[in-house]
Amino acid sequence: MLEVEINRKSYPDRGGQVHIALSGLSFRARRGELVCIVGPSGCGKSTLLNVVGGLDHDVDGGVTMGGVVPEHSIGFMFQEPRLMPWLTVLDNVMLVAGHTADDRRRARELLTAMELGDVLHAYPGSLSGGMQRRVALARAFVIDPVLLLMDEPFVSLDAPTANRLRNMLITLWQRCNTTVLFVTHDLREALSLGDRVCFLSGAPGQLVLDLPVKLPRPRSADDPAVLALQSELLQEHPELLAGLASGKDTGENDNA
Ligand code: ADP
Ligand code: MG
Repeated sequence: MLEVEINRKSYPDRGGQVHIALSGLSFRARRGELVCIVGPSGCGKSTLLNVVGGLDHDVDGGVTMGGVVPEHSIGFMFQEPRLMPWLTVLDNVMLVAGHTADDRRRARELLTAMELGDVLHAYPGSLSGGMQRRVALARAFVIDPVLLLMDEPFVSLDAPTANRLRNMLITLWQRCNTTVLFVTHDLREALSLGDRVCFLSGAPGQLVLDLPVKLPRPRSADDPAVLALQSELLQEHPELLAGLASGKDTGENDNA
């Protein structure tokens, strides 16, 4: 069980005041659960992931997993793929993997499962945006993470590319029993991926709705059931969902 309890997370601002980014936020996630977190821009979603992942310790609160502070085997995936341009695809993944022959085999297997077997020795600069995200996804899973933190990882991709990445994520997640926190401002994406969706209010982010998503898998962002649930929610909670994206995919064209 992942337990997150944030009493208060603030940042000093330029005028010497404090800016409260999160306040009174607590939630739990079961082992292997995929929890989507949605909320308007600036409500503290990235801040929350940084705290949960231990990248930011300056917080009044705590995060435990199985009763202890999680330190190892946390995978991250951000909005930008954050690949090292001077390393090949395989070496980017090996950078976080172990150094045994087994680790190398696992990295190759994952990249092949991501349909990147032909570009193992290519450099990121020669890949499309969608391919770069697939490398980042393989890198996130190569450590067999107990916890995977994803911060709007498929934003600004065209719809087919984003759908393909979502399907790959679900396949890997179902294989690994990893707990996933997936931040997005796209409600439709959240409903198509999550076992649960946690809605945060505007700043400072507080949990305003914790919604189990009972729709059967496999799901896609275009499923009529997903669209129906989205419009039902928008009708029931218009104030809560104000400021969220309508769920339309936008962004660069990408033929990956
Ligand atoms: P979200 O990811 O939901 O868009 P963030 O977690 O990035 O929101 O930011 C929440 C609030 O905290 C915003 O008002 C942002 O300006 C502020 N903030 C984020 N990071 C910092 C920082 N390093 N220093 C000061 N303020 C920050
Ligand atoms: Mg953010």
